[in-house]
Amino acid sequence: MSESVLVAGGAGYIGSHTAKRLAERGYHPVVLDNLSRGHRWAARWGTFVEADLADRDAVRQALLEHRIRAVMHFAAHAYVGESVRSPAAYYRNNVANTLTLLEAMLEVESDLFIFSSTCATYGEPEQVPIPEDHPQNPINPYGRTKLAVERMLADFGTAYGLRHVNLRYFNAAGADPDGLLGEAHDPETHLVPLVLEVALGQRPHIAIFGTDYPTPDGTCVRDYIHVTDLADAHVLALEHLLGGGASRSYNLGNGQGYSVREVIEGVGRLTGRPIPVLEARRRPGDPAVLVGSSDRIRTELGWAPRYAALDAILETAWRWHRDRPASA
Ligand code: UDP
Repeated sequence: MSESVLVAGGAGYIGSHTAKRLAERGYHPVVLDNLSRGHRWAARWGTFVEADLADRDAVRQALLEHRIRAVMHFAAHAYVGESVRSPAAYYRNNVANTLTLLEAMLEVESDLFIFSSTCATYGEPEQVPIPEDHPQNPINPYGRTKLAVERMLADFGTAYGLRHVNLRYFNAAGADPDGLLGEAHDPETHLVPLVLEVALGQRPHIAIFGTDYPTPDGTCVRDYIHVTDLADAHVLALEHLLGGGASRSYNLGNGQGYSVREVIEGVGRLTGRPIPVLEARRRPGDPAVLVGSSDRIRTELGWAPRYAALDAILETAWRWHRDRPASA
């Protein structure tokens, strides 16, 4: 029988792509999602459980009923700007609910955990590309909530023997190459889908948040990583833990930075459509440059991204946005 994996937040963007990958690799995903930000249509592999992570009994029941072998935890609020304005919601959802999930796991002696962490835990980089042992000094509440969970996991490992992998994502983008899933946040705040919506004429322009950063063209530089490459890394992390591997933290990026203007130009070239821009003020909480080294996961787990080029990332995202079904 295939191993069952609880995918908390599996109706969201990265969680749904990972549930698909788990199913393709012979695992049984059990998607648990409260649908506050996820989509029922995106949870189409394995079993779907509509529940809130704050409901410890419901989580414990899902763990027992589906004989869960490991937990992947994607369920979180993930908007830097919103976290600055509404930190309470971020600490509640990202920290308190994770604690509830971990307590439910302890109760049923479930001990393997894969955590969606973030490059936002590093803060302003002292060194680029950022390695995993770089100091973690987050500069926004979102990053601080994710770091709090990383610390909690380390303590739970020492005290209760829970083994975990922290996957620190850089900027997830792109869509399922089979066209079944894509990025659909509501409201949308992420650069790539917003620029695609401008290309489709659904928005009048894209606002560039800050043109006075100390970067070559004055706009923020980010390391974009394809969502399917992230999904692959989750399966590798799972197999590491199933094989008895120790707790680890891994960066997930491509090691190459692109500015906001370069992303906009890339979409313009790809679509052949005009992309009007509006120069706007900086968004609070944004570091100038975030580019990561993923050498550790390449060496230790054999991770090899298949869609590393920005054009490949943008191309899959464009196809999904252009052809997206009315229900999505
Ligand atoms: N950005 C922008 N205009 C937008 C949305 C984002 O200039 O409408 C910038 C943002 O300031 C950051 C980069 O694009 O430098 C990536 O932001 P996004 O929200 O996509 O991802 P995040 O880095 O917050 O995870």
